[in-house]
Amino acid sequence: MINKQKLDSIKNAPNGFCLAKWYQVTIDLSRGYTHSCHHPMRHKIPVEEIIKDPSALHNTHFKMLQRKLMLDGIRPPECDYCWKIEDTAGDHLSDRFIKSTDNWAYDLLDETLKSPWDKKISPTYVEVIFSSDCNLNCAYCMADVSSSIESEMQKFGPYPVTSNQHRMPREKAIKENNPYVTAFWLWFPEMVKTLRVFRITGGEPLLSKETFKVLDYLIDHPAPNLSLAINTNLSYSSTQLQKLISQVKVLFAHKAIKAFSIYTSLDGFDDQASYIRKGLDLNKFKANISLITDSLPESEIILMCTYNILSITSFKDLLDWIVEQKNAGKRITLDISYLKEPEYLRANLADDSLKSKMNDDLEYMKTLKQFSQYEINKYDRIVSWVNTKTADPFKFVYQADFYTFINEFDKRFKSNFSALFPGHKKFYRSCMKSYLWKKIYSLGNK
Ligand code: SF4
Repeated sequence: MINKQKLDSIKNAPNGFCLAKWYQVTIDLSRGYTHSCHHPMRHKIPVEEIIKDPSALHNTHFKMLQRKLMLDGIRPPECDYCWKIEDTAGDHLSDRFIKSTDNWAYDLLDETLKSPWDKKISPTYVEVIFSSDCNLNCAYCMADVSSSIESEMQKFGPYPVTSNQHRMPREKAIKENNPYVTAFWLWFPEMVKTLRVFRITGGEPLLSKETFKVLDYLIDHPAPNLSLAINTNLSYSSTQLQKLISQVKVLFAHKAIKAFSIYTSLDGFDDQASYIRKGLDLNKFKANISLITDSLPESEIILMCTYNILSITSFKDLLDWIVEQKNAGKRITLDISYLKEPEYLRANLADDSLKSKMNDDLEYMKTLKQFSQYEINKYDRIVSWVNTKTADPFKFVYQADFYTFINEFDKRFKSNFSALFPGHKKFYRSCMKSYLWKKIYSLGNK
């Protein structure tokens, strides 16, 4: 629950103001992109800006202009993730309220409102991608953050959907003499002094030597106020995880960090989860969860669910499994966000029967005392968004694209959607109809 006084002060700030634009950043060092927060599209970091000042990994001229819009009371269009939630009927808190009132941001509110828009900011929450090497191939993910998808797209080419560039590689990762990694290591010793949360993501961070270099750096240069977090898919043998655990134990023994968290993902449960996240090995995943909680009992696990149209029919099983884990004393928090792109996998394509399943799951979740109000609210706002009755002129196109995508996905991975997702039977059939209508329409226009 957000403190009312904190909430009011953000509400009283200029319209659309959000501290995440100043203090939270995700930086893709493998290709030189940045965004604040992680919801807006990434934008390119000009090399000439980081040569002058390595903090331009965060403070690009483009980003400072977005901050200026916020200070002027204008909602930056790139933050539409939040505007969609804020414009949904009912009382829903978008991420800008959740983030702006968080411990890494809120106490900086007054000084930020008084500062000029072009002030260079030392962020308090940094997330970096050192490498996009990844052993998984998730249905909604992109080649630029997964080498497995990059290989798939090189082999098969784009999916025959309307906007077919979503999973396609945009540019190659810089493997040698990477100026962004150089700028990072120039900036890190200074930036870490005021940093509160440092999160390494990927790709799969355990496949990057830079991840272990950061841990070594922190062992030699303790940052006792820092919360360290690693995003990892946990779908690998425990031997890989042991190396990480050993280093984190040293960090705790030296009081070199304040806290350690693992961020991992499940977007559904069982075979449906493995369908969404191709390569996910749920047995290894569960064993690794136990290994972390047994070896590092002081650590926290945040289970992220990128809720999409394929999450709906196994979400209840996911809730039940989390309840079991919580009952066993594991410190697991469920963090649900909605999938924004690609549009053809968005949950708001749901038909009435899938919506009814979501509504039932929400009511069920509310009865489970193991979930906090924070966890329930995050699902509640997604259910409200999906239930919103606004006519989307492109819904029919997205449904046709869903059908096209799923059939091509099945062909590439030799899977069988209809057998694995019986609860989507009606939805799939209506998507097939949309596909056929779209085909007839485009033939008619030739
Ligand atoms: S307004 Fe929303 S999308 Fe924009 S930076 Fe803040 S939390 Fe992120």
